[in-house]
Amino acid sequence: MTSPHGTTRQAVLPTLLGLGPRAERRRRALPPGILRLPTIGIDIGGTKVVAGVVDGEGKVLEKLRADTPDKNKSAKVVEDVIVDLVLRLADRHDVHAVGVGAAGWVDAERSRVLFAPHLNWRNEPLQEALSERLRFPVVVENDANAAAWAEWRFGAGRGEDHMVMLTLGTGIGGAVVRDGYVDRGKYGLAGEFGHMQVVPGGHRCPCGNRGCWEQYSSGNALVRDARELVAEESPVVEPLLALAGGAVEGITGPLVTEAARAGDPVAIELLYEVGTWLGVGIANLAAALDPGRFVIGGGVSEAGDLLLGPAREAFRRTLTGRGFRPEAVVVHAALGNEAGLVGAADLARQVARRFRTIKRHRVERGAEA
Ligand SMILES: [Zn+2]
Repeated sequence: MTSPHGTTRQAVLPTLLGLGPRAERRRRALPPGILRLPTIGIDIGGTKVVAGVVDGEGKVLEKLRADTPDKNKSAKVVEDVIVDLVLRLADRHDVHAVGVGAAGWVDAERSRVLFAPHLNWRNEPLQEALSERLRFPVVVENDANAAAWAEWRFGAGRGEDHMVMLTLGTGIGGAVVRDGYVDRGKYGLAGEFGHMQVVPGGHRCPCGNRGCWEQYSSGNALVRDARELVAEESPVVEPLLALAGGAVEGITGPLVTEAARAGDPVAIELLYEVGTWLGVGIANLAAALDPGRFVIGGGVSEAGDLLLGPAREAFRRTLTGRGFRPEAVVVHAALGNEAGLVGAADLARQVARRFRTIKRHRVERGAEA
């Protein structure tokens, strides 16, 4: 399919990079069928790699999963897992591009993973390695950015032209979607809100600093606080400990949520504290970014209003200029744990369109010659 003419390559390059109004117009003028092309999204987490075929409406048609390779394994082993999942899905579906959402720092070109906490990726040229092996257009994106994109396209962020998403899992994932694009910052590293310092000299964070926001508002914070109560042999924590089978290791985020739903006052209070810290941080973000909507996702957000109620209260109490300004709304994410996968697939769909355009032009030019 490669053209023998050097000029063709030059002509398609701006389109490939998505540059210029001509490329934009051409993309909008594409037949709607291409906008609905199924693509593959991949979510690389700390424990598992999930790959799924996603249609143009954001619906997951089929999903496969594999264990995340051990941290000491080489980058190639992780690529092997991804390639295997993609090829198995591509056997059964007519897919056109692959999007990879990875927990880690992805550079502004969405090509290299600069650092990944769960994997042996250090300045890893993942996009190039995968597109060479798969022969599909490949997009690499930070997982929080991918999730935010999915919520903006298909979920709780629809219709909002300035939204911030916060994903509360073991830490806090953050992303900003503005005017229909993910605001990645100059170097691709925007949205690391979890490491803003909120308590000078506070809890130590794996990032090396102390008092980071995610040490107070995350699944890890919830579990740490619950286990501290156990360590202090506080009688108030006995029902929670019983629910965990009497073992402190049995206390997890979902277990605290379950206990809170069942009315356990300690569990409710633990979520209240995490929610309050969430609201304080949201107020800080509103002061800096002034979005219209905060979308809250991740495992801890499954607690619903047990988390978001105190978060909204603290947000209103802390927001600068309160009473004299429009206030952002704080809403629950809609897509659950599929958001990262759906978002990665949809971001890849944008490249798939260009990929198809390029192929079409090459074919047309080939016919002219
Ligand atoms: Zn930190």
